[in-house]
Amino acid sequence: MTASEVRALFAVASRPEVVSLAGGMPNLAALPLDSLSGEVASIISKDGLVALQYGSAHGLPELRDQICEVMALEGVTGHPDDVVVTVGSQMGLDMVTRIFCDPGDVVIAEGPSYVGALGTFAAYQADVVHVAMDDEGLVPDALREALRAAESAGRRVKFLYTIPNFHNPAGVTLAVPRRAEVLDICRQHNVLVVEDNPYGLLGFDGQTYPALRSMDPDNVVYLGSFSKTFAAGLRVGWVLAPHAVREKLMLAAESATLCPPTLNQMIVSRYLATHDWKGQIKSFQSAYRDRRDAMIAGLEQHMPPDCSWTVPAGGFFVWMTVPEGVDTKAMLPRAVTARVAYVSGTGFYADGFGSRQMRLSFCYPTPERIQEGVRRLAAVLAAELEL
Ligand code: PMP
Repeated sequence: MTASEVRALFAVASRPEVVSLAGGMPNLAALPLDSLSGEVASIISKDGLVALQYGSAHGLPELRDQICEVMALEGVTGHPDDVVVTVGSQMGLDMVTRIFCDPGDVVIAEGPSYVGALGTFAAYQADVVHVAMDDEGLVPDALREALRAAESAGRRVKFLYTIPNFHNPAGVTLAVPRRAEVLDICRQHNVLVVEDNPYGLLGFDGQTYPALRSMDPDNVVYLGSFSKTFAAGLRVGWVLAPHAVREKLMLAAESATLCPPTLNQMIVSRYLATHDWKGQIKSFQSAYRDRRDAMIAGLEQHMPPDCSWTVPAGGFFVWMTVPEGVDTKAMLPRAVTARVAYVSGTGFYADGFGSRQMRLSFCYPTPERIQEGVRRLAAVLAAELEL
């Protein structure tokens, strides 16, 4: 195990004078804290002896029912029995990897991919093979090629790990016609699909896409989370898995945490039952849309020629490619001196690629701070290029 580049940065990037375009912290400003604190107090006073007690590794039944309603927004029809509540989707990722991967097994992932997933795969000594993306997400031909190459090298491929919607870090979304194709390819090669979908409801125009799980329920393990649509600090996520996998997940969950936190599950459940959570998600969408717009406008206005970037339709992240000759990892200390932080692209690849890329998060700072951060970053890049 090694420290992720994102974590190493956290301390410097969180100094107030630095505009951090580095972390992916959700923006919670719009949450109704007063009414939430009333709900939490009422849970403790009315049901405290349940809320503060151990529960089952499966998760609270009423919350699992509600999770099925949430997933239905993206076309998923799952049975509540097949949902396992987790401590964030990060725990789901950990359990799925623990169940499926022996050291030396191959996991296919988009290149770039979510840094926290790469850390988990490394911890279980799985080898990551990256598959290219373009503006429409994972490239099916590249997936075919990677599977063929792995098979002819005698490698065991355990699953495809994919983030189809508003990708972290690439900011792109898997085009709908490609979804069936990706699923077909995985079926043909007998490879499971692990669909990680924490951002699917954060499309800036309110648009959603059919979940891979909705198109091939028997071959997709779905990871969901309330971290981006409600409150990351409660650490409540879930896995929806085919029946046989679910049994193993519960065993893995028991050995990891005994059970997910009962109080936090009750808070999420009460929130879903009593608050206009869909309206709340709309207000998150519009806050993030304003920030995306500020970032894209800043990039267009300030960046030197030959920089390119993705324009996300949802989520938290822009992925930028800088001109040849610039090394984003080496440049980072100079950027921090200029009071702006980002994450170098190398953190999102298992194989050292990504030194001409960087991830820019627009989720947390105000639109004004984002524009200021982009202006500072452009000046650092211009100095690097000796413009
Ligand atoms: N997957 C992706 C793609 C993420 O971006 C994140 C959070 N940054 C997670 C999983 C983990 O989320 P959580 O554990 O908070 O549900």
